[in-house]
Amino acid sequence: RKPVIAIDGYSSTGKSSISKIIAQKLGLVHLDTGALYRGITYFALNNCLGANGEINLSDLFNRFNEIQLEFKLVDTELVMFLNGQDISTEIRTNQISQNVSLIASQKEVRDFLLDAQRSMAEKGGVIMDGRDIGTVILPKADFKFFLTASIEERTKRRFLELKGLGIETDENSVRENLVSRDKTDSERAVAPLKKAEDAIVIDNSNFTKIETIDLILSHLSH
Ligand code: C5P
Repeated sequence: RKPVIAIDGYSSTGKSSISKIIAQKLGLVHLDTGALYRGITYFALNNCLGANGEINLSDLFNRFNEIQLEFKLVDTELVMFLNGQDISTEIRTNQISQNVSLIASQKEVRDFLLDAQRSMAEKGGVIMDGRDIGTVILPKADFKFFLTASIEERTKRRFLELKGLGIETDENSVRENLVSRDKTDSERAVAPLKKAEDAIVIDNSNFTKIETIDLILSHLSH
């Protein structure tokens, strides 16, 4: 049976891009769970705004039956679709990043996404990255890692990533968003961002992506 691997950690520590490469190397399926919360945020911002432009949470909770989130294989990549529309770039915008932690802090939202995430891991052969994978979603994962890095390094990485996607931003707003999301994610009542007791911590501030991948692979091999 292929392993179930949980990768959690702070924003922009490379969780998703590292998980994606490990999945390719080991023939696993990679699920970026952050994309699910971003997808719900995208739906809310487009369909559930109150009169003052704020997201109306109870309206959102009443409309989960209108939300179908799917990952489809396009070439060799899993691409996120909302009700048939490819939203993989749309979910990376600043507007989504600024609202996603509020959405992710709602118990209703987390409950809505729970079974889909767990069922993906039932047969093994999965690497899942997020904030609560080792603690809540897959507490029995075969391997758990918790990634951290300095805020300077994470800001630089996210800034370059957004630039590559053609999304306009500046380093100060990227840093502010990372700090505020980590704070909201760590302080929320439901499934807060935290290290599972049995997770291996990797501070990759001074590592290249390849070095972090090699370190994880070395843990997997014994
Ligand atoms: O991983 P990413 O940065 O795309 O996640 C976006 C947001 O989704 C996080 O800041 C967090 O609020 C939420 N999230 C979560 N639990 C997960 C994955 C993401 O609460 N397992």
